[in-house]
Amino acid sequence: MHKKLFIPGPVEVKEDVLQKMATPMIGHRTKDASILQRSISEKMMKLFYTKNQIMLSTTSGSGFMEAAIRCCTKKRAAVFAVGAFGKRWFDMAKGNGVPADLFEVEWGTHTTPEMVDKALATGKYDLITVTHNETSTGIMNPVDEIGEVVKKYPEVVFCIDTVSSAAGAKIEVDKWGVDICITSTQKALGLPPGLAICTISEKAIERAKTVENRGFYLDLVKIYNTIQKKDHQYPSTPNLSLMFALDYQLDKIMKEGLENRFNRHTEMANYVRDWAKKHFELFAEEKYTSNTLTTVRNNKGISVKDLNNELGKRGFMISNGYGDLKEKTFRIAHMADTTLDEVKELLSNIEEILGL
Ligand SMILES: *Cc1c(COP(=O)(O)O)cnc(C)c1O
Repeated sequence: MHKKLFIPGPVEVKEDVLQKMATPMIGHRTKDASILQRSISEKMMKLFYTKNQIMLSTTSGSGFMEAAIRCCTKKRAAVFAVGAFGKRWFDMAKGNGVPADLFEVEWGTHTTPEMVDKALATGKYDLITVTHNETSTGIMNPVDEIGEVVKKYPEVVFCIDTVSSAAGAKIEVDKWGVDICITSTQKALGLPPGLAICTISEKAIERAKTVENRGFYLDLVKIYNTIQKKDHQYPSTPNLSLMFALDYQLDKIMKEGLENRFNRHTEMANYVRDWAKKHFELFAEEKYTSNTLTTVRNNKGISVKDLNNELGKRGFMISNGYGDLKEKTFRIAHMADTTLDEVKELLSNIEEILGL
């Protein structure tokens, strides 16, 4: 039996979207490939409220995260982490020999604009990374407020991870002053995994041009220049199948309406949070809870594993806690094309199983 996914990626994908991946292949150096890739870019620019160039990569989101910190740090990177995915950026810096410092907060709390200001005021850093939506803890950082602080430091390249929030919350790249905004297909966008997507500013590209050893496959300058010279084509053969599906899904997203889509996510988030507070507790600071997933503190000491097994028999799947939080929390994703009714159905099944 197929289990309906309420895990924070991969998510449930609609049948018609899946079918688009069976579109007959085209040559990746044809006009049709350019048209497809340009069409995706134009729609992604709307989704991210930006005039910056869009780039795709046949990797998952982590590909562009690694590329950003590697290609655009000349001096030193400041990595702000509020959980596992934030910290991943620090490990990427280390693995690539990029000088970096890690600024961590207690899990369940957020990155403050003050912390960022204090770090940048040292003048040590020329790139920072911030997680917009931390999928391990369920925190959504105030990137708009952080962006106001970063604007005081024009030499700093501002990178954000929106892997689990893009298309599930409003992300205003230009207004917030974001240089590189990264996401992937398998979360709130509602597609299978296999592509990373980012926005990139002129400033980030100019910086990258001054950095040696940008690698080959994920050299952002090379990708950027190829898109410009070859009308949205890429240096290597891209995941065209997923691009057909992405282009189609973006049409569906625009048809739903961006505001409507974000509001639907907010409605689901509010519902799950109220439910969590009634039966358990929220793990994350309430003011900064995510629009796309809720991390519930397991204060009743239930077996998350058993719960998920029972849910599986009924055709549902949720996520246990991340890493050390495995049994201490559980996570319910409410993203992509999931509806409030589906969320209600899931929660009433959990209530039945646990006798709540
Ligand atoms: C899932 C996730 C990632 C990793 O993305 P991949 O597409 O699996 O590489 C990074 N950051 C956040 C916040 C995520 O939720």
